[in-house]
Amino acid sequence: MATRLARLSLLLLACSSAPAGALTESEELAREILTELVAFDTAMDGETGRTRATADRLAEMLKRARFPDADVQVLGRKPGDGNLLARFRSPRPVQPPVLLIAHLDAVAASPFNWDTNPLQLKEKDGYYYGRGTRDIKGGVAMLMANVIRLQAEGFRPNRDLILLFTADEETSGSNLAWLLAEHRPLIEAAFALNTDAGQVDLRADGQPEAFDIQTAEKIYASFALDAVSAGGHSSRPGPDNAIYKLARGLSRVENHRFPRDLNETVRVYFQRWAPLAPPELAAGARALGAGRLDDPAILAVEESPYLNALIRTTCVATQLRGGGAENALPERARAVVNCRILPQSSAAGVEAVLRDLVAPDGLTITPVAPAPVAPPSLLDPRVLGPVEAVVAELWPGIPILPEMSPGATDGIFLRGAGIPTYGVGAVPEDPDEDTSHAPNERIRIAAFNAAMEFWYRLMKRVAE
Ligand SMILES: [Zn+2]
Repeated sequence: MATRLARLSLLLLACSSAPAGALTESEELAREILTELVAFDTAMDGETGRTRATADRLAEMLKRARFPDADVQVLGRKPGDGNLLARFRSPRPVQPPVLLIAHLDAVAASPFNWDTNPLQLKEKDGYYYGRGTRDIKGGVAMLMANVIRLQAEGFRPNRDLILLFTADEETSGSNLAWLLAEHRPLIEAAFALNTDAGQVDLRADGQPEAFDIQTAEKIYASFALDAVSAGGHSSRPGPDNAIYKLARGLSRVENHRFPRDLNETVRVYFQRWAPLAPPELAAGARALGAGRLDDPAILAVEESPYLNALIRTTCVATQLRGGGAENALPERARAVVNCRILPQSSAAGVEAVLRDLVAPDGLTITPVAPAPVAPPSLLDPRVLGPVEAVVAELWPGIPILPEMSPGATDGIFLRGAGIPTYGVGAVPEDPDEDTSHAPNERIRIAAFNAAMEFWYRLMKRVAE
């Protein structure tokens, strides 16, 4: 297989000037693919996507690696959009397919804030630098190199493995929503594995501490609060004032706490995290892990904004405007409140709570955009079993922590469409070192290669 893969690598890719170092052939292939991916600027250009050329290039690589033309497709909702769909077909499927996902777009990079060219893969101090190396062109490269390796090794999966690299995860996610609506049979799967969430947490001393698997995401929903008043000359103020009304309503929102409410993901997270927690949080974490929601020890846990966000829905004022002139009484004032809603509850329910809160001040409330709905994915042993087995091989002894992201990924659309989705990115990293979306985005080369090995083993295990 080794020589075949080496030949493939030469066939598929232009030669790189960087030294090969001690990389294996598939690591080398992944680096070559990542080099190409980083060089495509795939940030949105205003409203226009720029992922089509990347998707076409990846399709070409797979076809050269002898994936049948019919199993490799590039589709897009709009002309600049490219979503790559490729099927590593089972000769005799005995189980439904598994979807393997990443995204081709990246957030824009301002070169003036970078020490290197963000659109050129640079190897420095044991890292790959470049926009997308961490989020998540690195994940695309890993999946590509692994599927090419498995094909070259003659691996015969017992179910189809479908690669899906989407076009606009960083903005609206509209391409995945469109694929689900218009091309569902192409991506129908028992479950999805996402490279773009979850990781191996490293302690400060570099030792692996826990494997995070994302099984849930909060619902993102913003609401506009509007106040109106008659206006007039500011030299003759009366009691009716849109700005004061809005301020009173906002202060009620600030003082409202949504109730504690644990889904399975978060409860198991606290149960398994409790032994790792700092001493002052351990009792609260144990109480949450046992589902004792009225335990006073939880107050200490809630002081952490991150942990608090796991326990409850949050809503916070993020934007404000109002008044027309400094010497006129305001005619209107508007605030935007951004909510991160527990996936077991609903945006409509939260809207109703906010409406009741601000009604006494005469404010109206309007959703800014429809909120996607996505239930948590269950901790299914058919998925957790293979993940646990590979984690035990590569990082023996560390616990697996199910995770609910307060942010959002493409997983939300798949879960909402009934395809359970698990973020198992597996990059070993100190959580504080994550450079996604930041200047000088980078990934440790050893971590990149370790995650690729994890994915190689996992892809085999779920399909043999
Ligand atoms: Zn991402």
